[in-house]
Amino acid sequence: MSKNAELLKRRKAAIPMGVGNATSIFTETGKNAEIWDVDGKRYLDLAMGIAVCNLGHAHPAVTKAAVDQAGKVSHTAFQVSMYEPYVQLAEKINEIVPIKNAKSLFFTTGAEAVENAVKIARMATGRPGVISFRGAFHGRTALTVTLTGKIAPYRANTGLGAPGVYHAPFPVPHHGVSIDDAKAGLATLFKGDIEPQDVAAIIIEPVQGEGGFYAAPFEFMQYLRALCDEHGIMLICDEVQTGFARTGKMFATEHSGIEPDLMTIAKAMGNGYPISGVVGKAAVMDKVAPGGLGGTYGGNPIACAASLATIKVMEEENICERSQKVGARMVERINAMKNRNDTTPIGDVRGLGAMVAFELVTERGTNTPNPDMIAKVTAKGLEKGLILLSCGYWANTIRLLAPLTIPDEHLEEALDLLEETLIEVNG
Ligand code: PMP
Repeated sequence: MSKNAELLKRRKAAIPMGVGNATSIFTETGKNAEIWDVDGKRYLDLAMGIAVCNLGHAHPAVTKAAVDQAGKVSHTAFQVSMYEPYVQLAEKINEIVPIKNAKSLFFTTGAEAVENAVKIARMATGRPGVISFRGAFHGRTALTVTLTGKIAPYRANTGLGAPGVYHAPFPVPHHGVSIDDAKAGLATLFKGDIEPQDVAAIIIEPVQGEGGFYAAPFEFMQYLRALCDEHGIMLICDEVQTGFARTGKMFATEHSGIEPDLMTIAKAMGNGYPISGVVGKAAVMDKVAPGGLGGTYGGNPIACAASLATIKVMEEENICERSQKVGARMVERINAMKNRNDTTPIGDVRGLGAMVAFELVTERGTNTPNPDMIAKVTAKGLEKGLILLSCGYWANTIRLLAPLTIPDEHLEEALDLLEETLIEVNG
């Protein structure tokens, strides 16, 4: 029995199936875009731990920063005795976000950041309501799974959900929801479900992540900013998946030029060391009294050090520019695959920076989703040594999350493998 098979057997016996696994492999080591499994097979990784390792696996500068900090002190709880890396990281985040006079605080997971951003918005406005979007993903805790705009597999049988949450349509024109439809959806909510003066926040991913890598049209982001200003509503941009150079800018919100009231950040922030945060206008963030925010592990010193090193590398090595190049090359190659007549039919191809995805459709030239093909593509890719992730409200999208540091030859190799995969599954 292979080591992978043996571990899989033990995993099935010891760990519930509710934690889904995109692949059946166990990882031994990783280096930039490559990983090796416990049986020694090499893969090119286009999942990067779900948009986390934007600087690739085991980036030496990040590893060094974490190891150095671990040798000094690994945990005190910031609420008990403070440490400089937390302050340094807050200063750095405040400097790089598209929010003037910002303040930051740190947590461990994306869901925790979203929970706290909503809590801050509610405490700052004294209002109960929150509006999120269909197809959105904001986490798996009681509040965040309610904000999440897709029932199966996330919300089914979880109960009625947290109170005060309303869903509006997210604009995806090629699936029949125009920007005007999305605007009308909000107007309908305000008329039939909750008045704007009872809404604390509107939360939006500038590019929906799990929902399918659909960028909110910049015009729609600007519309939301104006709507929130009109009614005193906090605009929360959830940058958990889009942040830290993934879209070719440090934060995806920058593309639309708006200033959110609050932003949630996580994932690539620590390049693999668990850290998340809420950053927002100081006047809003300071509305919560001492003791109202925090958590035992929030802003762990090792994770703060790793995050500072991650941001430093991103700035020094011009990673945003690299993100744009990697993304453009991917979109170019996938469009060429789409134009072949021997791959499984490809629909919409899209990318903001290196946040790239494409849809599988039943027939060339249509937008009819083909979710049944997705598992075949990811399985065939894995067989060939390529780690692929799916996503999407219509469950028909392959998302490509190459590390932004991927060398050109590995990028081309990964795209060659993808092309072969899409041809072979068509047989
Ligand atoms: N918000 C967004 C936009 C996400 O993509 C995710 C995770 N996929 C979350 C929140 C939740 O993050 P976590 O899994 O770290 O709780």
